[in-house]
Amino acid sequence: MIEVEKLTKKYGNFTAVDNISFSIEKGEIVGFLGPNGAGKSTTMNMITGYIEPTSGTITIDGLDIERKAKKVKAKIGYMPENVPLYKELKVREFINYMAELRCVPKQNRKEAVNKAIDETGLKDVENKLISKISRGYKQRVSLAGSIVGNPEILILDEPTVGLDPAQVVEIRNLIKSFKGKYTVILSSHILSEVSNMCDKIIVINNGKIVRIDSTTNLINSETKNSKVITLTIEDSDYRIENFLNELDFISNIQVISKNDDNTVSYKITCKDDTGSSLDARKEISKALSKQGIVILEMKQAEATLEDAFMDIIDKSKKENQMNEDLNSKQKAIKVKLSLKERLSKPDKSTFEKGGKK
Ligand code: ADP
Repeated sequence: MIEVEKLTKKYGNFTAVDNISFSIEKGEIVGFLGPNGAGKSTTMNMITGYIEPTSGTITIDGLDIERKAKKVKAKIGYMPENVPLYKELKVREFINYMAELRCVPKQNRKEAVNKAIDETGLKDVENKLISKISRGYKQRVSLAGSIVGNPEILILDEPTVGLDPAQVVEIRNLIKSFKGKYTVILSSHILSEVSNMCDKIIVINNGKIVRIDSTTNLINSETKNSKVITLTIEDSDYRIENFLNELDFISNIQVISKNDDNTVSYKITCKDDTGSSLDARKEISKALSKQGIVILEMKQAEATLEDAFMDIIDKSKKENQMNEDLNSKQKAIKVKLSLKERLSKPDKSTFEKGGKK
């Protein structure tokens, strides 16, 4: 079991990972999901022991990663994003080299390499030069390098990035076949990717955990009874949120594009769990026409997983913004109050100086 408690990583004043806690059970496949720069790689690098946290703890099977670094590292197989492969080596030679690096004893190495080759389906190309195999096979070689030596935990950073659609499917199936054999943590910025492979999803944005849920719950709660309406109106200074705030079924409003023809397009997510036969388009159209706003285009579609993900991220951005605004308002009030207090009290030193005069 992996337990992460109040983990933080700062680079100077910048907080890349901000006080996150979660736990992962043995044998689970868990996805870190978040946009680029969210803090996924940093978190993974801390779990592998590759970078040190600023604060917080990571324990694996009860062992603290800092105090028992060697023991913990032996339990982990890591595949970084865009792993550099030694292209002048043959597939088997590379995996053998990785086994050596992972300190697999010489007498067990052949068996370990065979097992890694079998599990990743590399038998057909084991004697080919890495430079001569396809991008999909190269990714398999990286995976084989991370599983050789029987780690309990696999950490895979963006395992399908840069692959073509057919190769993506192959690698996803391969990772799914690891279920039960390894505890897998993988990262991605695509919800459909994570939901396809993982039992549990940890959504990260701006270094913070936005949501932890089972894949089924997340999909059901976010896409069931949800519709997405795309709306185009004339560009203007007002915020349409102000005119639509009485419509309870709207769960999020986002500007998706400001167009060349002086129009603006919004994406409105509507969620109606009441089971009513309400037509969101009619209600939105009525509310906007009351304000004299002319709708130039409106389209409705079922919410997809990607819509759900974009919504979760957008809502967390708005929450962050609101908290920042609140903090700066509170700071400004404090400054005002202390200034007022100082001005209302006679300054003793000036008074004394004045008295001496
Ligand atoms: P992700 O993997 O989700 O794309 P990362 O964990 O790579 O995100 O990065 C999180 C944030 O931390 C980003 O804003 C990134 O620029 C910053 N960051 C990562 N590594 C460093 C570093 N060594 N020095 C300064 N900032 C860094």
